[in-house]
Amino acid sequence: MEDKMTRVAIVDGDGIGHEVIPVAKNVLELLHPEYDFFPVDVGYHRWEQTGCPCADQDIAELKTADVILFGAITTPPMKDYQSVVLRIRKALDLYANLRPVKGEGFDIIIVRENTEGLYSGIEEIGTDKATTLRVVTRKGTERIVRSALQLAQQRTGRLTIGHKANVLKSDVLFRDICVVEAQLAGVSCNDRYIDALALDILQHPDRYDVVVTTNIFGDILSDVASYLVGGLGLVASANIGDRYALFEPVHGSAPDIAGKNIANPIAALRSAAMLLTYCGDKEGSGCIETAIQDVIAQGIRTHDLGGSAGTREFGEAVIRRLRKTGGYT
Ligand code: NAD
Repeated sequence: MEDKMTRVAIVDGDGIGHEVIPVAKNVLELLHPEYDFFPVDVGYHRWEQTGCPCADQDIAELKTADVILFGAITTPPMKDYQSVVLRIRKALDLYANLRPVKGEGFDIIIVRENTEGLYSGIEEIGTDKATTLRVVTRKGTERIVRSALQLAQQRTGRLTIGHKANVLKSDVLFRDICVVEAQLAGVSCNDRYIDALALDILQHPDRYDVVVTTNIFGDILSDVASYLVGGLGLVASANIGDRYALFEPVHGSAPDIAGKNIANPIAALRSAAMLLTYCGDKEGSGCIETAIQDVIAQGIRTHDLGGSAGTREFGEAVIRRLRKTGGYT
């Protein structure tokens, strides 16, 4: 992707998105002043002001971007409120949600199907009964497992399938398609029930490389696995489709700490690093990760990691580090 052409949509969203995304954007601006950054304002706050959290025009604007840096959006558990995040993922067909969890002695990437499963949006709620349809299709499964297999081939060549096929027929289809695709690709694979996997990934993270699973299981498994690296403030994700790509922290809008300048911006910074890798700048991506590690090693940490640095202060320390070591001005 040519640098000059790169259009980056910046979506703060709600809550701590307004604090962590500016930190990540500052770093991207430092590394790539030639990128064309433009804001897109969607989220629950928009719904409160206008009754519409995300208009068709906003989706159209997002589609003009090469890449999207996204904070988090509050989704209140209300009967008539439609999730903006799910709408964007569907509208842009961002079917592969990649969630790396890397630490001392382990390097896992959770590949979550992002457009169907229990988040298909086919549901109804009555007074005495509510139903949500869990849709697993051959097309959806083939494309997610192929993404996972491609990653496995670039890495250690191991794939784990997370499912609940003992109970869910939809997961029998999911598992069987994954197994056949792995055989065709010549990748060694095993499969685990998702509940047992959630425990085993914590006890033996070194046993795992690429883990492919369905929508809600991937959502939960990555929050669980974030425990291995210090919590939700540290884990980034990429949402990739055939045409569009969106990068966001795994965490949500964290209303309990919003507006206090205490959120950890590392997940947002790592999301920016994943965005750069996608854009072809692996070196810049590596510089962000090195700067994060250096700043932590200096003892500058946010509250969730036992420190006292604010969100902005951590971000400023990363910028100082990049200027000093990377020659960025
Ligand atoms: P959350 O991830 O927002 O917060 C869970 C806990 O982790 C909270 O205690 C929070 O303070 C802490 N936390 C999260 N990010 C942190 C950070 N960067 N630094 C330090 N601590 C951090 O999850 P939740 O509370 O279940 O959800 C809050 C809202 O976010 C809900 O409306 C939910 O729907 C939404 N949400 C949005 C997304 C998204 O936009 N992709 C993802 C998850 C949740």
